[in-house]
This record gives sequence, C-alpha cells and structure tokens, in this order.
Amino acid sequence: MGISVYNTLNARKEEFKEIHPGEVRMYVCGPTVYDDSHIGHGRAAVMFDVIYRYFQFRGYRVTYVRNYTDVDDKIINRANKDGIPASEIAERYINSYEQDMESLRIRKPSHTPRVSDHIPEIISTIQALIDKGFAYPSAGDVFFSVRKFHAYGRLSKRALDDLESGARVGINEAKEDPLDFALWKAAKPNEPKWESPWGPGRPGWHIECSAMSTKYLGNPFDIHGGGKDLIFPHHENEIAQSEAASGKKMVNYWLHNGFVQVNQEKMSKSLGNILLIRDLLKRYHPEVVRYFYSSAHWRSPIDFAEDNLLQAEETLWRFYQAFLRIEKLGSAEANPAEQNPLSEKLAKLESEFMEAMDDDFNTARVIALFNDFLRLLNQHLDLPKFGKDPAGASLLRKSFQELVRLGEIIGLFQEKPARYTELAKTKAIVIIGLQPEEIEAKIRERAQARLEKKFSVADSIRAELADRGILLEDTKEGTTWNLELKKVHQKQQASGGGK
Ligand SMILES: [Zn+2]
Repeated sequence: MGISVYNTLNARKEEFKEIHPGEVRMYVCGPTVYDDSHIGHGRAAVMFDVIYRYFQFRGYRVTYVRNYTDVDDKIINRANKDGIPASEIAERYINSYEQDMESLRIRKPSHTPRVSDHIPEIISTIQALIDKGFAYPSAGDVFFSVRKFHAYGRLSKRALDDLESGARVGINEAKEDPLDFALWKAAKPNEPKWESPWGPGRPGWHIECSAMSTKYLGNPFDIHGGGKDLIFPHHENEIAQSEAASGKKMVNYWLHNGFVQVNQEKMSKSLGNILLIRDLLKRYHPEVVRYFYSSAHWRSPIDFAEDNLLQAEETLWRFYQAFLRIEKLGSAEANPAEQNPLSEKLAKLESEFMEAMDDDFNTARVIALFNDFLRLLNQHLDLPKFGKDPAGASLLRKSFQELVRLGEIIGLFQEKPARYTELAKTKAIVIIGLQPEEIEAKIRERAQARLEKKFSVADSIRAELADRGILLEDTKEGTTWNLELKKVHQKQQASGGGK
C-alpha cells in the first residue's frame, strides 16, 4: 500500500498516485503579507512542511511552491495608514514571515513566487480566459463569468442557485452576474498599478495562484493545499480559472488543514486573542510548538490553551531527558543485545511510523507511537544493569538514533540533548526565581551540612529545592541539579504566570 490522502474534492481518503513517476508537485497558498503571522499561518506551514518532508523521506522528488500575496487590499490599506508604499509593507512582512519560518524550522519550498513578479503571466492567463469566453472586460475591470464554468461549486459542494441567492445584487454595476468575481481591477488613486490590455490596474486575489501554479507546476499537478477557510471562494475560483484557461484538470488532490483556536475561541482581531508565531516562540522552544501541532490530526481543529502547550513541553522534556541519559552511557561498540521488548519494538518502529504517515499523514498516531517507545526506553534505562552492559547500551543508543531519524520528518528531536536541557533550565529558573549561582550555593550548603552530619538540615535543603522543581542528583563527581518540569509548571500556573 502506498500513501493515502484525504481529498476535499471527493470528500474521501484516496490512494496517492503521482502524475510524473517519482515526483510530487505541490502548491500551498502562502500568506498575504500585511502583518506578522499568527499560529494559524504557522499550522499550515508546519503541516505542509511535514507532508513535504514525508514525501522526500519516501523517495519522491518534490517541487513545492508556496506563494506570497504581495498585492492586495489589506496591504494597500496598511500602506495608506502607515504612509509608506505598499511594496515596502509587503517587503517588511515577507521578511517577518521568513524569520518565523526559520524559527519554526520549516524547510524552504522549491519556489516562493510573488504576485508582483508575475504580472505578465497573470495578464496572459486573463487574456486566455477572455479569448475562450470565460471572462469579460468591463469599465477597466475584468470579471470571470461563473455560470460559464459548469463544474463551479464542486470543491466546496455549493450549488450555484444557493450562491446566487446569497450574493448581493447590484453591488457592482460592472458585473453581468452577481456571482462573477474580479480577475483584474482598474486602478484607483493611491494604489499600485500595472499596464494591461484593459488599462492600468492590478490583479484580483484568486488569479495569482492559477497563474503561478501553472507556471511552476503545469496542469494538472498533484497536490494543492491551504487552510479550510480557503476552500470557498479562493480555491473554487482557482479551479475555475485554471481549468477554463488550460482546458485540463488543475489538481488531483486538494488538502485542507483544520482551524486553530485559542482557549476554545476562534482567533479574531475583535476578541484581541490573535497569537503571533513570534510571541509564542518567546515562550516555547520551536520543537514544543511543532510537537503540539503534530499531536492533532492536521485536518482537526487544535486548541492553543496554555495547559496543552505546557503538556507538550513536559512530554518533549521527557524525551530529551531519556536521550541525555543514553548519551551518558558512553559509546563502546558491542554486539546487539539479545531479543527483548525494546529491540523488538525498535525493529518495527520505522514500519509502524510509515504505516501511520501513509494513512493521511497521521502525525497524532506517530506521536502516540513515539510515546509508547519512550516508555519502553525508560523502562530499560531504569533497569539497574541494562545500560551498563555494552550490548544494552548499544541498543539504547540505536533506539535514540532511530527516534532522531524518524523525528526529523515531523521536526522533532533535532536539538542536542544537553543544549535542549540548558535552554529549558534557562527558561525555568526565571519562573522558579532562583539564579544558578543561588542553586549552587544551596548545593554547597547541603554538602557542608552532610559533612557535619546535620542530616535534617541537608534534607530540608533538598526538599526546599524539590518543592521549587529542582532535583538534586548525587554522582561520583559531585551533586548536579536538574528540573522537575511538571513542578515548575505547577508553580507557574499557581502564580498565574505563563503569559
Ligand atoms: Zn491561493
């Protein structure tokens, strides 16, 4: 069995069959660049990054296109408000988005085309639509004639007559039918404009994705993605434009990721609860954020409640603590250990991972699989002799390596365990309210008390630190400290912190 994907077009899971052998061509609608990006943009970026990585892992050559909408009403409004050119606003927020993508460790797509660089392609697509009778110029605008395209509504499962009754008649005198949408908009004052056969103006929103996907991927291509909010009208209009212009099918598989919520509310400007990627990443390691995105199926809604993120942070911490313990076991070569539950599970890990990912990129199942494997790993780490035996240590190391290899596809476990631990400690001591020097001083105080056989004093120092989420570990080389992250989080929430 190959990969199966849920295709919005046919409302069912289907086996993926590529058009060009060994190759996947994929287009995802990128951001309209007029503001910093929020966790909804982050979700689409992360999930399509996972899909991109997985196809590559399965040996496909992937051409991945993600566009920038840098010509749009929202950008123009922002530019006029700030008193600077629209192109400057676009440039600023493309940079901002690219920084966010780098922070989230998103692999660069093959192409990231911008509307403003593709005006000739857009004009020739519009001209082709006019020539074929699917579009008409009207007073400097050009409109797509929706009723001429018979498959309109197939993706969003909407009937034209229902749409008609919903459309507001008479709002635009230039349109022949209220259902028609703009391909080209005549220039207005204080707007960016380009010359065209219909006079100076700028493209409508939908036409860019038809023109750019056709340029980079041809028609038909394999996968088109985006958030569920884009199904109607944006993707419906893309299909109409591309298929009417080329006379060919546009896309075989339409993939739409689910919405994000914040504390079970829809994100909106009016509620003031828009959560920016950059603000979230000030509080959480990017892998925590990626872990959290991947813990839900990409088509389901996901709720950015603080508790959920803290939970993700605690779980990821447990993985890294196991990795840290494994690294300390040393790296002497040894024959593999005898068959045991860990070696049996390790042998199956890749195939179980692939089974989950082949099933419509089910990252939630992968997360569960990894957690089961971690439990087994910790059981073996806790056995008094297992890790001390070179064969046992070797198996533990192989298990760690396998998690790093497979984790990479969803963007996890790529940090050095020692570094991840340091980062978590740096963050936690702020919440705990103790500096590392203060912790070291307490450790020395305790050592002195033990030397003087004042064991109750020593124990109370240990208990006091434990209460604040700091665990002492006595080793041959002396006493070191580590975090009990759950305790740190409890303190953080009790004090109403975390914001
Ligand atoms: Zn688009």
